[in-house]
Amino acid sequence: RNGFKKESFILSVDVGTTSIRCHVYDKEAKIRGSCITKVVPLYPEVGHVEMDPDALWRGFITVVKGAVQDAGIQMRQIEALGISTQRGTFTTWDRTTGVPFHNFISWQDQRAADLVKSWNRSCTMKALQGVMKVVYFLTRQKRSLAASLIVFSTQHVTFRLVWALTHYEQVRQAADENNCCFGTIDTWLLFKLTKGGSGSCEWPLPMSTICFESSIMCWSGLLCSLVSLPHSIFPKMADQQAAMFGECCFDVGDVKITMGTGTFMDINTGNKPHTSVAGLYPLVGWKIGSEVVYLAEGNAADTGTAIKWAQELELFSDVQETTAMAYSVSDSDGVCFVPSFSGLQAPLNDPKACASFMGLKPSTTKSHLVRAILESVAFRNKQLYDTMLRETHIPITKIRVDGGVSSNDFIMQLTADLFGRKVARPQHHEMSCLGAAFLFGPPHPASLYFSLAVSNRDALLTFFVKVTQKTQLAIWI
Ligand code: ADP
Repeated sequence: RNGFKKESFILSVDVGTTSIRCHVYDKEAKIRGSCITKVVPLYPEVGHVEMDPDALWRGFITVVKGAVQDAGIQMRQIEALGISTQRGTFTTWDRTTGVPFHNFISWQDQRAADLVKSWNRSCTMKALQGVMKVVYFLTRQKRSLAASLIVFSTQHVTFRLVWALTHYEQVRQAADENNCCFGTIDTWLLFKLTKGGSGSCEWPLPMSTICFESSIMCWSGLLCSLVSLPHSIFPKMADQQAAMFGECCFDVGDVKITMGTGTFMDINTGNKPHTSVAGLYPLVGWKIGSEVVYLAEGNAADTGTAIKWAQELELFSDVQETTAMAYSVSDSDGVCFVPSFSGLQAPLNDPKACASFMGLKPSTTKSHLVRAILESVAFRNKQLYDTMLRETHIPITKIRVDGGVSSNDFIMQLTADLFGRKVARPQHHEMSCLGAAFLFGPPHPASLYFSLAVSNRDALLTFFVKVTQKTQLAIWI
């Protein structure tokens, strides 16, 4: 009324596998209010991991309202909302009514393990892999139509979606009638936020399906028809797609490792998608003008999961105790743990690998078991790191870590020792929210981005990479 404009804020929500977190940021990127709620996973059958779309939506609303209340501000002071979500978790819903046909099928879900295994062993795949290997080794030309189709994994959406189309009659029928929407969590939230507005369907996380062809930046007709996925269910790729990728200036060979529920190791491979024979996954990192920058990703599904499981077995009461427990013994007493509740991903690519302890003895204590679990996380890091070095031939320039598990000193020290090089951890490991806040913040506080880019490039990189890992979006700097 008096020409006084109230202070405005950016709201940022990170929908993780274990929790939904929301922070209110002011224009100096300081957290002014927060709210967190748990995500309750559903396990309707052995190997099935789901989330209730309505519960997720309610959780989203709860944290948004809670964070705004905690900040002591009004909702109209929020200028922008950034959303960072887990990637390969999806549902399908009725385009007309907006009602989901089934629960979210989580990236951890193993229902398509048999399909994946038989496809990876099929003659078609062997033939394609053969062609790709020849293309890769003879020409080093990585821009191929089937660049991303080397090894399927249950974490890619493709075969879980094929499973849904086969097992849920309603989904198949709606797809036939062009009335089926497929979407990852961000798409679903935007669909709800815009009350079904068409724009919401233009914000998918397409790479997580594997049916998105990174080298030509559109849905791959070849892959869709190969696995019988109707093209019509995928969101349109409009020019908002360009907005999914922001400007960035990070270097080829930069690596980040995000360790939360699972581990996601990404390397910047420059302007070519990496063709992998070991199961690394090519991703679009960001796009500047007409130039696309790619990442190659390797992952391990059970990192925080394994630690949480040990906590539920009461090997310890708080995760913070695990570092001291591991250091309290000189070794694991010959005990090895295989962290594979959801199979083993690259370079082993066995969706049916069983989690196990080996080498148990009467002398084995809780500390030995905990040490073996923490060691297994570091060993998987090493395995992914070696695969990356071997396959990409890109000299690694720097390595940064984030995610809840990166706060474990034992795991980080062992990882650095196994790599034989420095691994950098930011002081604040929860970067997704801030990354999304930067990403979606209105363009006018450009000075903020600029000053952050200059004064705290390291932190900015980590924000970026976590956002990239989860949403394949980038930050404006
Ligand atoms: P997500 O984003 O996948 O939900 P987070 O990045 O929030 O995951 O990390 C949560 C995980 O980190 C939990 O599984 C938790 O057990 C684990 N975690 C947190 N602190 C530690 C610690 N000090 N040592 C080991 N694990 C930890």
